[in-house]
Amino acid sequence: MRLILLGPPGAGKGTQAQRLVHKHDLVQLSTGEMLRAAVAAQTPVGLQAKDIMASGSLVPDEIVIGIISDRLDQPDMKNGFILDGFPRTVPQAAALDELLKKKHIKLDAVIELRVNESALLDRVESRVAEMRARGEEVRIDDTPEVLSKRLASYRTLTEPLIHYYSERRKLLTVDGMMTIEHVTREINRILSAIGAVEPKASKAAAPAKQAKAGARKTAKPAGKKAAKTAGKAAKPAPKAAKTASKGVKKAKKATRKTVKKTAKKVVKKPAKKAAKKVTKKRAKR
Ligand code: AMP
Repeated sequence: MRLILLGPPGAGKGTQAQRLVHKHDLVQLSTGEMLRAAVAAQTPVGLQAKDIMASGSLVPDEIVIGIISDRLDQPDMKNGFILDGFPRTVPQAAALDELLKKKHIKLDAVIELRVNESALLDRVESRVAEMRARGEEVRIDDTPEVLSKRLASYRTLTEPLIHYYSERRKLLTVDGMMTIEHVTREINRILSAIGAVEPKASKAAAPAKQAKAGARKTAKPAGKKAAKTAGKAAKPAPKAAKTASKGVKKAKKATRKTVKKTAKKVVKKPAKKAAKKVTKKRAKR
């Protein structure tokens, strides 16, 4: 499974990515994490990125595209990945399309976590407080001033990606204001609906129907166009429903056969008995 998680800072992309990684055995590709590691290791990329990141601006496209390109070539990518924080600009998205095409990798979906901007500051503040309480190092760009700059750059540079992926029928939107647990459940439901993950084998027929309905319900795109896109992106669901209904048809056919056979037996038995009775009577006569 290959996914992109899209959303402003504080939307919960990192948290959801980790949960998906755990459940589906994927690799999380967070450009922010990679860049922070590069800064800590003082690599040439890290030295270039350090001040830009601290100010809340975006690192130049070529740097992050280069990082992702190298990472996609690693053998642990086989089972799939979740891109978290990349792409962040339209040129990055176009470069990613090219990279994936060249490497013969298919993107399954782009999941947008839609959040209420006014709640983001509270979220980041409580994240910082929790980290401090745990004695962890707090990110240098997790301050109210830098956050508002990161939000502004999200609006102007990253938000156009919603349209970009919506046009390519890849976008699925989830309400990111729900609880962490709820968001995870909705994402997994959508992924089943689009056929990116197998529905539970034991309930093959029922979840196919559920998933189909779930995709319509859950993928709550903001605009009409996005709504259409979510519906289209969730197209594989009817396929699953078809397969399920094929299974149901087969089962029905098998039942009909059994009923016919049983009926024959039922019919045969009394007929034989009656025939025996007639023979006995004739013999008596
Ligand atoms: P994040 O952890 O995703 O919030 O990223 C932290 C910082 O790393 C961002 O504010 C940017 O400065 C930089 N960064 C991460 N990903 C990208 C990207 N795809 N393009 C440009 N800059 C990025």
